[in-house]
Amino acid sequence: MRIETKLPKVSTSIFTVMSQLAVKYKAVNLGQGFPDYDPPQALCEGLTRAMARGCNQYAPSMGVASLREQIALKTERLYGRRIDPATEVTVTSGASEALFAAISAVVRAGDEVIIFDPAYDIYDPSVVLQGAHVRRIPLARPSFAIDWQRVRETVTHKTRMIIVNSPHNPSGAILSATDLDALAEVTRDTDIVVLSDEVYEHMVYDGAAHQSVSRHEELAQRSMVVSSFGKTYHCTGWKLGYVVAPVSLSVEFRKLHQYINFCSFHPAQVAFAQFLASDPQHCLALPAFYQVKRDRFRALLEPSRLKLLDVPGGYFQLVDYSMIRKEDDTAFSRWLLEQGGVATVPLSPFCVKAPDDMYLLRLCFAKNEATLEAAAERLCRL
Ligand code: PMP
Ligand code: GLN
Repeated sequence: MRIETKLPKVSTSIFTVMSQLAVKYKAVNLGQGFPDYDPPQALCEGLTRAMARGCNQYAPSMGVASLREQIALKTERLYGRRIDPATEVTVTSGASEALFAAISAVVRAGDEVIIFDPAYDIYDPSVVLQGAHVRRIPLARPSFAIDWQRVRETVTHKTRMIIVNSPHNPSGAILSATDLDALAEVTRDTDIVVLSDEVYEHMVYDGAAHQSVSRHEELAQRSMVVSSFGKTYHCTGWKLGYVVAPVSLSVEFRKLHQYINFCSFHPAQVAFAQFLASDPQHCLALPAFYQVKRDRFRALLEPSRLKLLDVPGGYFQLVDYSMIRKEDDTAFSRWLLEQGGVATVPLSPFCVKAPDDMYLLRLCFAKNEATLEAAAERLCRL
């Protein structure tokens, strides 16, 4: 039997590769982005209770009503936007499913989708699977800011979607209110849908505010805003996320969602509904929680020969290793893992063609103090 691949350029995700190698070489794992601490205890207890109380069968396809209500309340409280939980919120199996379903619901064969390079790995193949074309616009370095003039020049009558991601994975760059105005201007009087990946929405530092697309009255009308409970509540393995979108887009989104998963993990939805109602402060404390980790990790790396890029948001530190070795990032990350005992993620898998002078690795600092210290001790020896 001959199977012609639909994704010839895709191989195993760099996150899988690095996590497997980290186990094999017993390296300190700062590669794949996940915390090495537990979710809040009350949330875990809520999950156990939900299972004991029989929430073990299918949930409603669009998500448990009380959780959708909490998401709507949060959106209003944080971003000043009133949404209808019945028609504008859909609970998904992680942000991953939300992104794939959003792209599949909206993008048709022959359409063009603008994404920014480097980009999180899900976007490009999800577009390609629709028979559509990816138009990549490089972000400026080292700020990873969007060049809006390039965006204006890249938009055509075929542009169906623009995907933005703030705070940005891998760089941590954040969009400003001015960026959102530029995005609104570029998309005005078009049928372009904005897909806004905001999974790191509660990890924005130094007093800055997260500029959710939900805050922007005009943009919100054409946007699908995606978030992840896994990131916010330290439970990436529970795979729960959601999308907020106006009714016309939510209707199309739900058509896809019902066939991809029908519904998402029921007990966790019940647990989150209760936890969000009883502890709405959790997400407000996250910027300070992660800023301490960011600053501690940067201080630990101070004596190293790594150059630390700024981290305005997210939970990744980019480092320039060109003072240590000038080789490509895949080779260097492999050497660092095998010889230096630290697993990281190279940047080139996020790029369609990595620039020759890009000597950058991504390190996840969503880790306990002991893990950060162990990693830093090894990195300072290089
Ligand atoms: N978007 C970005 C930018 C991510 O970094 C991730 C994963 N960490 C996801 C989406 C997927 O989130 P989830 O684990 O909820 O599927
Ligand atoms: N989003 C996580 C990261 O960027 C990984 C998620 C995954 O493994 N797919 O590291």
